[in-house]
Parts: sequence; C-alpha cells; structure tokens
Amino acid sequence: MTTNDQLFERARKVIPGGVNSPVRAFRAVGGTPRFIARAQGPYMWDAEGKRFIDYIGSWGPMILGHGHPAVLAAVQQAATEGFSFGAPTEREVELAEEILSLVPSAEQIRLVSSGTEAAMTAIRLARGATGRSKFIKFEGCYHGHADALLVKAGSGLATFGNPTSAGVPPEVVQHTLVLEYNNLEQIEEAFRLHGPELACVMIEPIAGNMNFVRAQVPFVKRIRELCDQHGALFVFDEVMTGFRVALGSAQSLYAEAIPGFAPDISVFGKVIGGGMPLAAFASSRRIMEHLAPLGTVYQAGTLSGNPVATACGLATLREIRKPGFFDDLSRKTRMLVDGLKGAADAAGVPFSVDSQGGMFGFFFMPELPQNYTTVMTTDQPRFNRFFHGLLDRGVYIAPALYEAGFVSAAHTDADIAETVAVAADVLRSL
Ligand SMILES: *Cc1c(COP(=O)(O)O)cnc(C)c1O
Repeated sequence: MTTNDQLFERARKVIPGGVNSPVRAFRAVGGTPRFIARAQGPYMWDAEGKRFIDYIGSWGPMILGHGHPAVLAAVQQAATEGFSFGAPTEREVELAEEILSLVPSAEQIRLVSSGTEAAMTAIRLARGATGRSKFIKFEGCYHGHADALLVKAGSGLATFGNPTSAGVPPEVVQHTLVLEYNNLEQIEEAFRLHGPELACVMIEPIAGNMNFVRAQVPFVKRIRELCDQHGALFVFDEVMTGFRVALGSAQSLYAEAIPGFAPDISVFGKVIGGGMPLAAFASSRRIMEHLAPLGTVYQAGTLSGNPVATACGLATLREIRKPGFFDDLSRKTRMLVDGLKGAADAAGVPFSVDSQGGMFGFFFMPELPQNYTTVMTTDQPRFNRFFHGLLDRGVYIAPALYEAGFVSAAHTDADIAETVAVAADVLRSL
C-alpha cells in the first residue's frame, strides 16, 4: 500500500508544495494531506483505505454527495457524445435557461470554466459597462485570484490597495479599494470620496472564505442604495453561496429581507458544475450585451460551456430543485451545527455556529464574528487540535479555520450523529 506520506513526498518533487491549490497542503494545520483515492455519497477514502465523512464536498460543489446516480449517468452519456467541440451546443442553452429560471435578477448568463475567471470577467464587465475603473471589495472576501483582486487595504480610505501576492504590480491594484466587511461608516465614506469613479462593489453575501460571516441586511441595503445613487453596479459573488444556501441563492434571502432587492451582476461556480470545471456570470440583457461578440468587453474560453461539465451541472441542478430538497438539507445542516454547539457547551469550550442551507461555519469564540479581523482572532492552535482530532477519527473538515463547511444531501442523520459524537469526544480533550 502506498501511504499518504509517500505520495506527499513524491508530489512535492514534481508539484510546488505537492498540491495544485495551496490550502490542500495542510500548511495552516500541519501534518500530511490525505491523498483521496475515491469517494461515494458523503464519504471519501484516502490512499491508505481510511474512510472520512466529508464536510468539504470539493469546497462546495458536491451538494448531492459523491457519485450521485443521476449525475453519473448524465456525465457518462455526455462523455460518449464528445468531450469538447468548441462550438455551441443545445445543452449549454439548457443550462443557461435552468440557471436563469432560478435567478430572477438576471436575464442572460455566460458560462466559463472557473470562479476566478467568472469574477475577473464580472469586474471587467462592470468597468466596461460603466466606463469607470475603480471598484470596492471587502477584506476577507475571496473572489478568485485575478490580479486586481489580490489586494489588501491601503493605509486609509483615500488610498487604494496593496498587492497580497508577489507578481502583482502595485499599479494593477491601484483601482481596488478594500473595506471592512459589515462596516457601514466605511462604505458611506468610500462613496463620498470616490462615488462618481466607482464601477462596482463586489461582495460575498455570506462570506465563506472567512468561514461563515453574513453580510448584515442593513449593510447590503445601504450598498444597494449607494450604488444606485452613484451609478455603480452591485456584484454578488455567489460562487460559494449560489444554489448552496438556498435554491434562489443568497440573493433570494436578501430579496426576502429587502423589498425589491437584486444585485446587478451575479457570479456563480461550484454547485452549478456539480464537481466539473464550470462557472458563470449573469446580469440584465442591457449589461450583458456589452460582452463580445455584441459589445466591446472581451471574454472567451476554449472549454467554456464544455458539454460534459454542462451535463454534470444540469443533472445536479435538476436534483436540487426537487420539492423539499433544501428543507431537508437545511435540517441536516442545523442538526450538525446544533450538535456541535451542544457538545462544545458541554465541554465548556467557547463556541459559536451559523448555517444556511447546506453551508455552515463554527468559531472558537462565544459570539459570531462580523468581519475578517475578528475571525482572525480565533484560537488557531485550538482549531488545529480540533481539526486533527476529527481527522484521526474519520471526520474531514476544511484544514483552515477561515473556510466554511458543507453538508450534502447524501449525509444521513446517522452520519451527522456520528460526527457530533466524534466532535464531542475531541472537544472534551481540547
Ligand atoms: C471558490 C470561490 C471563487 C473562485 O472559484 P475557483 O473556481 O476556485 O476559481 C470565487 N469566489 C468565491 C466566493 C469562491 O468561494
């Protein structure tokens, strides 16, 4: 048998850090990443044959669990018909219609291959449609790794950001303004200073890249008003939350709380591909018509709307739109977070939890944090002990305290009960 250690050693010789995406390397928590050999339903097995209950779900896409029969059949059928044509297909039209039928804020959509690509293009579209260069993002929100988005706050609201990655020239982020999440004063001030120059405000409505932090309703409402007053576009990055927190995505929750609310541009990924490389951005026809070949904003992709990926995404969306799907998924996710909270309370460990649909977060702090600075005050060594305690006992959560967790429809009540029992055991030993 090949061990995880052996595979990691081999991987590090040929792949930087041994991984193709940094968080997989376990740098935040220490130890050896598990090399996954296969997965089925809510479980994954590593190269050593150990089974894990999976709460990462490929970082969100696997909302039905692994190897769902209807999805597998659709992918197998599509593969026999051809992997890629570089020409339009009926299936991508079907997927576009399917997504738009669930997202009333948008009239047109374009399919791409990754969330990074979709978010990057959404910014370009907002800039092209408004003829403006500057935009606002929030600290702790991740929108993929396009150059202009790898940025941290500058020294004040009058100054723009600094790159967070080598290889990004400061000039490339000079139009990106980074503000604190849920900070009303800062957004007011930013619009007062830069309103007429702002192309858009981009936000993760529930920030899953700082574990799980909700944008408060008054905050979202005020951004909507400020964008309207100043002619800026409001971009919802729903790559993680889209079709994951509710069938209508996070925007449907804000539309319930704020009459008439809709974002101008929505970005999707993860669930819409069902585990295949697929993402999208969507908006009104008026805005989308700025895109090539109709308009002057360029965007293209060899594998965009790929026939196998669209088959996977379509089959996934057709399952999740069945009646009662989100009620049951939400119930199970709540069962998990309530169980974890109960176990933490019993163990005397400060703990807070939140969840929506099939997405959840927990923090080793008594109150839910509202911004990135607070998230980062989490007791990291304690999180790391909790992570490894769960992993050793066959429960796989994200290997970093700033990542959200995901429950799938394939998780049974028994899986959740087992997870809570394991967590209770680990929490007592912290
Ligand atoms: C995952 C994610 C992205 C990036 O998507 P990739 O497919 O990894 O490029 C962008 N935005 C959000 C909110 C995400 O969660």
